[in-house]
Amino acid sequence: MSGPAASTEFGLIDRIRARARDRADVLLGIGDDAALLQMPVGRHLVVAMDTLNQGVHFPGDARAADIGWKALAVNLSDLAAMGAEPAWCTLSLSLPQADITWLDAFLDGFLALADLHGVALVGGDTTRGPLSICVTVHGFVEPGRALRRDGARVGDDVWIAGLPGHAAAALALRGLRTDVAPVDGVDIEAIAMFEAALARPVPQVALGRALGGRASSAIDISDGLLTDLAHVARASHVAMSIDVDCLPISVSLDRTFNSDARRRLQATGGDDYVLAFTADAGLRAQMHSLPEAPARIGAVLAGTGVQAVDGEGRVWSAPYIGYVHFTDDGKTGMPL
Ligand code: ADP
Ligand code: MG
Repeated sequence: MSGPAASTEFGLIDRIRARARDRADVLLGIGDDAALLQMPVGRHLVVAMDTLNQGVHFPGDARAADIGWKALAVNLSDLAAMGAEPAWCTLSLSLPQADITWLDAFLDGFLALADLHGVALVGGDTTRGPLSICVTVHGFVEPGRALRRDGARVGDDVWIAGLPGHAAAALALRGLRTDVAPVDGVDIEAIAMFEAALARPVPQVALGRALGGRASSAIDISDGLLTDLAHVARASHVAMSIDVDCLPISVSLDRTFNSDARRRLQATGGDDYVLAFTADAGLRAQMHSLPEAPARIGAVLAGTGVQAVDGEGRVWSAPYIGYVHFTDDGKTGMPL
């Protein structure tokens, strides 16, 4: 028989179960009707869920191991943005066929990242349908230390920790983002760097933990920096001013695009999974000792909305500002 090595629903679940790691607080993991978990005393439970659909969140030719990594990474990034310590996850898999080779590769990526953070896979669901992966993550946070979107205060600084724009650069180089074009002669190392950012984002879990009790608000950049900061501004009832020429940039991104293109990629690109946060200006000196040194990119002001300015203080605006599902073209007309 040719084609992929096939199995049944229960064969697939057995394969997943055989590879899922244990944790002392998992009283009952995969195998029963539900998992039984021991909460640590005196901490809040933090729960997040994200879905990846083929053709929407990853292309048809994406590698199974990369899909596995990213499905968990985007969820851990949400926990990081809450300042939570990850503990457990569940996995809902919708697969067009019971392909063992695909599942094993998917688990290679998924479980490699789970192991890095000591996260136990405690349950899930396995069904037949179009390729879609839905993950729920559970973590803990000390009461009062969660990094919420509604805590930004007038006078706070705005920070970003990491290099936004690489994932969007990968899409642009593939011709999937048509509003920006690279310069001639893109070098192969730059392409590899952008592709890695798109396929294997690294959730800033340690940074999120360190920001607890320091940052006044935080968010992870998934839909585009300006769009995501607009969520924070709205929730906090404040305005923000962001200098798009203060965004940290790699030599590769700087060399591959002209200045307007790189501003668009960095400010509106999305899929970055780096943390943006606000903090009292009195804490500036402490920011250098964080696990990942952030860059100061703007200020929280009275009012509403997010305004972007360039290095000369001129208002900078992009043709569109981030990704929104259920719009005709995925582009938002949402006011910042
Ligand atoms: P039920 O019919 O009671 O929902 P299932 O047959 O769906 O049970 O699942 C059996 C066990 O396998 C459950 O413990 C469930 O959490 C686990 N499980 C099913 N699919 C997955 C998956 N994709 N990843 C992890 N655990 C899974
Ligand atoms: Mg089930």
